[in-house]
Amino acid sequence: MAVMLILVDGMRPDSINMSETAQTLRKEMAYTLEGSTVYPSVTLPCHVSLVTSNEPDVHGTTTNVFVPWPESVSGLFEVLAKNRKKTGFFYNWEELRDLALPGSISHTAYYKPSDFPDGRTNDLCARDAAEYWSEEKPDFMFLYLGNVDYVGHAFGWMSDAYVKAVEQSWRIIRDMKEIMLPDDTLIVTADHGGHGYEHGSRMDSDMMIPLAVMTLGSEKYQIRKNASIMDIAPTITKLLRIVPDSSWKGISLI
Ligand SMILES: [Zn+2]
Repeated sequence: MAVMLILVDGMRPDSINMSETAQTLRKEMAYTLEGSTVYPSVTLPCHVSLVTSNEPDVHGTTTNVFVPWPESVSGLFEVLAKNRKKTGFFYNWEELRDLALPGSISHTAYYKPSDFPDGRTNDLCARDAAEYWSEEKPDFMFLYLGNVDYVGHAFGWMSDAYVKAVEQSWRIIRDMKEIMLPDDTLIVTADHGGHGYEHGSRMDSDMMIPLAVMTLGSEKYQIRKNASIMDIAPTITKLLRIVPDSSWKGISLI
């Protein structure tokens, strides 16, 4: 039993309705398109809330400049390391290097994004992540795809180029699902949405995120509507049969 988390940076829930590949995967997913992220709806604060299952005012990162979280808070990768779980992290936005303390992740790989809007870095990142997943068989792997957010800032949220980038991300999600075993679980989400050429506000367009759980086995899940990005870490520990950290505020999605 292993868990893969794929996060598509800046993917609005309503853009999923415009992705042909997402539509075909839909029947295999338990999901909500009305999940919420934390405020400010900015990449690094949202990611730190994902791994620490706490609001930004608790973990301290409120901009894209990382602030070490207090000792009273524990990160997902540290909890997994303490439980001797093998973990991998593949990403193409450099600031995410701070999502774990040094030595907490078994394998990390960073890909410098110089090629948007075609998303080739997403493909490279996913290709290596797939190889790692199949050969190394980690207990947990986090694949971060940054291209949709780049395209949103450059061409606008919900622009044709943006919708195309969302579809490209869902093709990666489909291909990653193909390499999973029946008792593995795939979680798909976003850190925030966006409007115009930006995000960061309390507007629904920025704060609402999709949260999807896919399993190839017979297990059927139901995701509650008021799900939060802070619910992801406790979901992962539940799937891996680990006790969640007592500092975490989220509740498992399943
Ligand atoms: Zn982001």
